[in-house]
Amino acid sequence: MSGIYIHIPFCKQACHYCDFHFSTSLKKKDELINALCQELELRKGEFKNSSVETIYFGGGTPSLLTNDELQFIIDSVYKNYKVSDHPEITLEANPDDLSKERIIALSKSPINRLSIGIQSFFEADLKLMNRAHNANEAKSCLDEATKHFDNISLDLIYGIPGASNVQWLANIEMALSFGVPHISSYALTVEPKTALASFIKKGIIDNVDDEQAHEQFYMLKDKLEASGFVHYELSNFGKDGYFSKNNSAYWQGKSYLGIGPSAHSFNGKQRGWNVKNNSKYINAIAQHELPIEIETLTQTDQYNEYIMTGLRTIWGVSFRKVEEDFGLVFKDYLIEQSEVFINQQLLYIDDGHLRVTKKGQFLCDGIASELFKIN
Ligand code: SF4
Repeated sequence: MSGIYIHIPFCKQACHYCDFHFSTSLKKKDELINALCQELELRKGEFKNSSVETIYFGGGTPSLLTNDELQFIIDSVYKNYKVSDHPEITLEANPDDLSKERIIALSKSPINRLSIGIQSFFEADLKLMNRAHNANEAKSCLDEATKHFDNISLDLIYGIPGASNVQWLANIEMALSFGVPHISSYALTVEPKTALASFIKKGIIDNVDDEQAHEQFYMLKDKLEASGFVHYELSNFGKDGYFSKNNSAYWQGKSYLGIGPSAHSFNGKQRGWNVKNNSKYINAIAQHELPIEIETLTQTDQYNEYIMTGLRTIWGVSFRKVEEDFGLVFKDYLIEQSEVFINQQLLYIDDGHLRVTKKGQFLCDGIASELFKIN
């Protein structure tokens, strides 16, 4: 199975916490779309032997593209790749781009999954984060989207300074009231060089409170699990049959092509990064050159990645797979390193798999890094 990720590097305005690659100027939009299609063509040999099961428009804000522009890119995928009969085609969209007419038009396009960047239903939170939409738009777009799409995910952010646990619970309940089958939720993190980092430094915004983020993570988990969601990845909850196929493929170490500036690719052994600059990307593609840096993963890198992604998911880390793929030395190392966390009830072994306990989940990335092997 293979997936294609397409990065649309434009946003209306910069959210204060965001360090993704995007430009708020749309001047190069047409050139960029042509370059994306050219990159798709240049790289068609990479997926010669497998069919594309998922196409994912991420960003940035892919919903800034018109339906015709999205269709143009999808056509280019079909022209250059073998696509399975029922691919999952996801569009990340922001509420301010999802008018009733737009949603209806999208529902008639090949796009069959929407991932909507709600983040919060509270005006104060949206302002603090400098989101382009308001609380009413968040609600009205979900009202409409759920009438025309069955497969919808929404994003929520927890640990927002000033947002109490009572407010957080109201956010979760509001999200549930729309009946969506998938919710992704992330802690607000303060990335260096973002507006949020600078506001916190100047004392304009309170720092994020780890203790509160910790509480809100478990409130989310308890509430969603009680509502029939499976917590299948640390930041992702889905009803049966609605786990993100695109993201599950990443977590299960499957191959994907990342198209567009800053997009990442993975073929099982090598990881690639496209240049993080729209002009450089467009110019390189115009010369028929791939603006990509490639790193070949060592066996240790591959083991470390498997530990990180495995622990984050309900599939856990298989001791048998570690032994088969990396050898007995790695398996013994894993057993030895995990012992202390098992004793602290942060990890447990079940059916030949190492998994995080509920208590360990919030600390998952830190625990995984303690199990890493150093080259
Ligand atoms: S819309 Fe998304 S990608 Fe764009 S600035 Fe906001 S968080 Fe970042």
